[in-house]
Amino acid sequence: MFWDKKTETLKPADLKALQLKRLKKTLAQVQHVDFYQKRLAEAGVKASSIKTLDDIRKIPFTKKQDLRDGYPFGFFAVPLKKIVRIHTTSGTTGKPTVVGYTRKDLDTWSDLIARNMTMVGITEEDVFQNMVNYGMFTGGLGFHYGAEKVGMTVIPSATGNTKRQIEMINDFGVTTIHCTPSYAMHLSEVAEEMGTTMDSLKTGIFGAEAWSESTRKTLESRLGVTAYDSYGLSELFGPGVAFECPERDGLHIWHDSYLVEIIDPKTGEQVADGERGEMVVTPLVKEAMPLLRYRTGDVTLIMEDGCICRRGKKIARITGRSDDMLVIRGINVFPSQIEHVLLKIPEVGNQFMVYIDRINHLDEMTVDVEINRDSFSGELADLANLQKKVVKELRDALELRTTVKLVEPGSLPRFEGKAKRVVDRREVV
Ligand SMILES: [Zn+2]
Repeated sequence: MFWDKKTETLKPADLKALQLKRLKKTLAQVQHVDFYQKRLAEAGVKASSIKTLDDIRKIPFTKKQDLRDGYPFGFFAVPLKKIVRIHTTSGTTGKPTVVGYTRKDLDTWSDLIARNMTMVGITEEDVFQNMVNYGMFTGGLGFHYGAEKVGMTVIPSATGNTKRQIEMINDFGVTTIHCTPSYAMHLSEVAEEMGTTMDSLKTGIFGAEAWSESTRKTLESRLGVTAYDSYGLSELFGPGVAFECPERDGLHIWHDSYLVEIIDPKTGEQVADGERGEMVVTPLVKEAMPLLRYRTGDVTLIMEDGCICRRGKKIARITGRSDDMLVIRGINVFPSQIEHVLLKIPEVGNQFMVYIDRINHLDEMTVDVEINRDSFSGELADLANLQKKVVKELRDALELRTTVKLVEPGSLPRFEGKAKRVVDRREVV
């Protein structure tokens, strides 16, 4: 099933021509962004430099750090009055990355999500419960508007109150759910405890976390759904960048909208199809915030063969990160963010360790923090208050609940060279 059959099944030559046309247009658009004007001039890239798609290699990469340096609106290519929505994503230190959308961007974005959902047989007959964080996270509103565009009956339940979620699924005859795979697992367990099944469910859309084939099997048998992997990135609108088709062997990227390269993260050189590397994406249809060669940090490969559904080459499931970003309950966390928070609290030192576990299918983060000598000899009540303060500061900065343990000065490991402050004990299954 197709939402936009003509575009989704373009012949390779027509697709390349469209990509080149849109790349040139994007290159013109970024001239409204000071950062790009300067960066392209330095690299000697002019409009005339791009004659074929291969010429994209002349264009310098854009990194997350660049977006952060542009905080808040430095990457907007249109005046603020044309921006109708803003989302943010966590940065590596205090400041988030801001992404903006024009009215047309929101329309384009929801169209891409409608393509994904239609691809797996979802129609206006379906009832959709969107069990992810609404708000600044793009996963909530992104899927919400895409589902409305398809004409589904949308229940914006967001996260939390799992029993109520299950009641709604049953009372409203929900056929399709969207959440993180770990929350889906939790949902199935709570349903079991309640002694209920969710018989109306047919389709599960799971994303924002890495998950495996064995998790897919478990979720499918426990929830009675067909499970699909969804991939997106706020910098590239949000969800809707890549999605599995019914083959469920790799994810389709909408090649008319996103130009994908896989590079060796060390050298920056493109690698061949079938070889693993960091995914670099140039969005071709963004108006408010065009980007050139954006380094996603996500590690994958372009699968060599096309797909019987005729939507072109797929990418493999994301297998990791080329940087130190952690994904905890679907939220991006950089160890440097934690360090940044701790440095602002005078009673603690700058030594910490982060442990990540998966308990009852939910990610739990524990931070061991060394306190300084003065605080260590203080009253117990003061220590309890300090512990609460650290928890609160981390929650405010990361939008994530953590467990904090205060430990004696000098008790945490010291590192020579690059510190390994994160111990991820989640089983990658
Ligand atoms: Zn396919």
